[in-house]
Amino acid sequence: MNTDYILQNFVDMGIAVVDVRDVRGWSPWHQHGISSGKATYVTPQDRDAFVVTVRHCQDNNLNYALIGGGTATCKPCGADVLIVTECLKALSIDTSAEELIVGAGVAIETAESFVAEHGWTLGQWLGSGATATIGGAIVTNANGILAGRYGNFRDAVTLIEILDQSGNTSWISPATYRSLPSAVILGVRIPLWLSPDGRAVARFVGAGDPLAALRQVATARLMPALISVDQSGTITVIVEGEPHLETARYQLIAAILQKQGAVQDLTLDQGKHWDTLLSSNPWSANAAGDVWADRIVLTVLWSDYSQVLNTWMQRAQSAGAELTWRAINPTQNGVQLILDFQLEGVKTGPDWLYS
Ligand SMILES: Cc1cc2nc3c(=O)[nH]c(=O)nc-3n(C[C@H](O)[C@H](O)[C@H](O)COP(=O)(O)OP(=O)(O)OC[C@H]3O[C@@H](n4cnc5c(N)ncnc54)[C@H](O)[C@@H]3O)c2cc1C
Repeated sequence: MNTDYILQNFVDMGIAVVDVRDVRGWSPWHQHGISSGKATYVTPQDRDAFVVTVRHCQDNNLNYALIGGGTATCKPCGADVLIVTECLKALSIDTSAEELIVGAGVAIETAESFVAEHGWTLGQWLGSGATATIGGAIVTNANGILAGRYGNFRDAVTLIEILDQSGNTSWISPATYRSLPSAVILGVRIPLWLSPDGRAVARFVGAGDPLAALRQVATARLMPALISVDQSGTITVIVEGEPHLETARYQLIAAILQKQGAVQDLTLDQGKHWDTLLSSNPWSANAAGDVWADRIVLTVLWSDYSQVLNTWMQRAQSAGAELTWRAINPTQNGVQLILDFQLEGVKTGPDWLYS
């Protein structure tokens, strides 16, 4: 059957818009395919129209492909027709299961913003997240930078809704999906994590020996959510979690990196709760001149008391910092620990604090 005739059918039935567009040329994946050119896009109006469109293309053996954000698609796979998934835009939270039910055509950052409003995170941070879709991420087995903590999409999702060749829809497990790699994805269920109180991303450039710096951070068991080094030697650090504890963790890492000769780049993306905390509680209250210093106050249970203290003593020792401590406000359950750190020869705080 003639492709144009089928496409005209979609328009006549009022279920989809058909137009010819330039294929995006900016994806690195295009280097392996056609870097530019025209393609026919079919944009179904809603989810029902999407199902009808896909089925119609299948029944008529049309050479079609789905397109989400188009960030991983080289003039998509030689298809004559691209079916746009943007109408698959379901977004709802199942609070009892603590899961997001999300359509395959929703952009990753749109889903993240939606859950963030309710105090959750998906923990899926991709460079292309503003455009790349949930469906595209599953198909390409995409990895966010926090995958070590939250898993990648395929690991993370609990159920995937597919449309099979007979036009039936069903929810299947990720394991079953792996045996059906060409299935059309309509949506997924993905677990929600409580949004960390704060999250900071910082880049350090000019570390004399970045690997030695990373080793020292690891030896100090500082365990940020992410620490990585790229080919230029730039170290990226992400810490997230309870602000008070995490600022301390972050500062100790920053102190180690500075000691190794790194300078902090001002790309610092603080979590919203951290802004208030830092404005009311200066970064390094005890700092002076060339001495980096910080105070952390921790509330600990008696059962954890010595272990927590030991951990921070070892961290300080590995970082070459001096630690003095005292315990206050004991109760039946626990006590507050005041830990004062000092490390000579590094700046007192990040530049952005003083600007
Ligand atoms: C600037 C940039 C940064 C990037 N950063 C990262 C990164 O940090 N991590 C990473 O892993 N990747 C990254 N990528 C690669 C890419 O963004 C990911 O693979 C992304 O998940 C693709 O999603 P998409 O919606 O753009 O997919 P598309 O390019 O639209 O589609 C990809 C494939 O999935 C198929 N598909 C799309 N939707 C469906 C559906 N609903 N059902 C079935 N099949 C479907 C398409 O037919 C195609 O075969 C990046 C790419 C760019 C250009």
